[in-house]
Amino acid sequence: MTQQVKRAFRYRFYPTDEQAAELSRTFGCVRLVYNKALEERTRAWYGEHRRVSYVQSSTALTEWKKTEELAFLREVSSVPLQQALRHLQTAFANFFAKRAKYPRYKSRKKSRASAEYTRSAFKWRDGKLTLAKMAEPLDIRWSRPLPEGSVPTTVTVSRDSAGRWFVSLLCEDTITPARPTTAAVGIDAGITSLVTLSTGEKIANPRHERRDRARLAKAQRELCRKAKGSANREKARRKVAKVHARIVDRRRDFLHKLSTRLVHENQVVVIEDLSVRNLLKSHSLARAISDASWTELRSMLEYKCAWYGRELVVIDRWFPSSKLCGACGTVTAKMPLNVREWTCECGTAHDRDVNAARNILAAGLAASACGDGVRPQRESSRTGRSLVKQETQRATAGIPRL
Ligand SMILES: [Zn+2]
Repeated sequence: MTQQVKRAFRYRFYPTDEQAAELSRTFGCVRLVYNKALEERTRAWYGEHRRVSYVQSSTALTEWKKTEELAFLREVSSVPLQQALRHLQTAFANFFAKRAKYPRYKSRKKSRASAEYTRSAFKWRDGKLTLAKMAEPLDIRWSRPLPEGSVPTTVTVSRDSAGRWFVSLLCEDTITPARPTTAAVGIDAGITSLVTLSTGEKIANPRHERRDRARLAKAQRELCRKAKGSANREKARRKVAKVHARIVDRRRDFLHKLSTRLVHENQVVVIEDLSVRNLLKSHSLARAISDASWTELRSMLEYKCAWYGRELVVIDRWFPSSKLCGACGTVTAKMPLNVREWTCECGTAHDRDVNAARNILAAGLAASACGDGVRPQRESSRTGRSLVKQETQRATAGIPRL
């Protein structure tokens, strides 16, 4: 049984000078409209405790376009501006549902510049994409083919801090579920190796990354030495962004291959829920990058499990995966990070990460057998105290960026 999913395909493209100017103008207008609408909503919410709807924001936009100082908004395609208001609407819906923090202003420097075009604002003909207000199609580098016969429903154009242009095409795609298997795997997130599997396999960080990371650190040091506002500083900033972008690209590629492999080989995949709060506390560069990849790997596992009919079990982050002996169930009081191998009182010798991955798998399978929403209490065979509170979450399909 196949299933239809929405899937984003991302490519680099090289705009002509005219296209680049048009897009930069559009990005600026998108940001302005978003921020202005946010400002009005904030005034209404904090001043009068009144919620502003998308329709009201949209009416306001029409009014802004009629004023002299905002007349330039009429020069760009109206669709990306409307889409910006829709995104703001979603941000507020998430805020009111307590799923997200209060929406923030888009900054010219920190936010990624982007514009979203729906069906009425682009032409798709013979595999060529032409955006509204443009005479020529975009020069896209098709690094992989779109699914056979597919037509994009939404197109997002963006420019990253390294100055590279991307277009993301949202298409319908048909997914065939993977063949059922009885295999299951537990995954432990690490720093020394990227992840360790319950099978004992350790997956190292991508090749080149150590060197790229050293380059990044050097580029960052150089950036710090440049005077603020100078041309050299801008050059140094670009350099940092470039090295960083390369690390992120290689990482993503690597994580795609890894997640696809794990999902194809296993019916059940168990991971630990590393809390976002914990992740944000990271200081070292290595730590920051490994945390970012963990978040990305998790989201890839989530949607790929949903696509291919697999189960992703997420166990509670307080589960003492590295302190628990998988053989006898004893929990060691202390397990400093530098201890890579240890021997339990029962005589079993453990590799720290492999033991953790095995414990994660066992906890996940126990939780999975109890079904959704059940929080089984596992008893320690030795102390008799309740040891772990588990929580299962089933994967939900998301729309990935590829
Ligand atoms: Zn033991």
